[in-house]
Amino acid sequence: MIVGRFAPSPSGRMHLGNLFSALLAWCAVRSADGKMILRLEDLDPDRCRPAFCEQVKADLLWLGLDWDEEMPRQSQRTQAYAQVFDRLQQQGLVYPCYCSRGELHAASAPHLADGTWIYPGTCRALTPAQREAKTRRPAWRLMVPDRVYGVQDGLQGRYEENLAARCGDFIIRRSDGVYAYQLAVVTDDIEAGVTQVVRGRDLLSSTPRQLYLYELMGQTPPAYCHVPLLLARDGRRLSKRERDMDLGELRKTLTAPQLVGRLAWLAGLLDKEQAISARELAAAFSWDKVRKEDIIL
Ligand code: GLU
Repeated sequence: MIVGRFAPSPSGRMHLGNLFSALLAWCAVRSADGKMILRLEDLDPDRCRPAFCEQVKADLLWLGLDWDEEMPRQSQRTQAYAQVFDRLQQQGLVYPCYCSRGELHAASAPHLADGTWIYPGTCRALTPAQREAKTRRPAWRLMVPDRVYGVQDGLQGRYEENLAARCGDFIIRRSDGVYAYQLAVVTDDIEAGVTQVVRGRDLLSSTPRQLYLYELMGQTPPAYCHVPLLLARDGRRLSKRERDMDLGELRKTLTAPQLVGRLAWLAGLLDKEQAISARELAAAFSWDKVRKEDIIL
């Protein structure tokens, strides 16, 4: 059975782009009689607010997107992440990194795909005495091998990356103690038995890091489908700053079937924009019809 998930970050009201991914994730599960899991990714205490958790759920349900199970929120799963972290540390794969943001930017080249920085390994070989002499609170990095990790994405085709050359050792725990997205998302998807990940194309470049974590944890990764992003007219990604695209505004003028119809038409699932319920859409869902390229609104 297909097990899929919604993994929204409750850092604001859902906007059109989040809903687009959510609708496709839901259709892919429901059209295959699979199981849908909801997980609120409130890892980052600086960005996430409890008030948005209820709002996210209410907005999904308003659109007709339901789930069969809700996992505990990420902020409540610190124990599980700590266990994984400890195991990786026991394998000798984790080390403290004392670099400041400025030092990192001065010393490294941008990551090809997503603009994050390739870590040059500055703190990898520090001696115990050198570590002792540091005053900054460290972040924790996972050593990566000089090896290619690739995925056959259901929508985007082949994507691969040599982790050492294109990414470098990456952070799995921040200096404030918060576990990083890469570690949390893999731990959670394994725990929930997720077999299919449908999410925005911006996360395609995270997938090789996640495949590496699956390997270290001795688990089989899910199938991936990275769906197009919705872009503003100037080509920027829609973000929670575009208030007119958030569900609070959209719900003032559109019914749920109208909004589902608009998203389905943008995705390529309908030939013209027309009202349709999420259930009806799932019955006619097929990945073959879904567009691969980003969509400018
Ligand atoms: N929480 C992430 C987001 O809202 C999604 C993570 C994922 O699907 O792997 O962008």
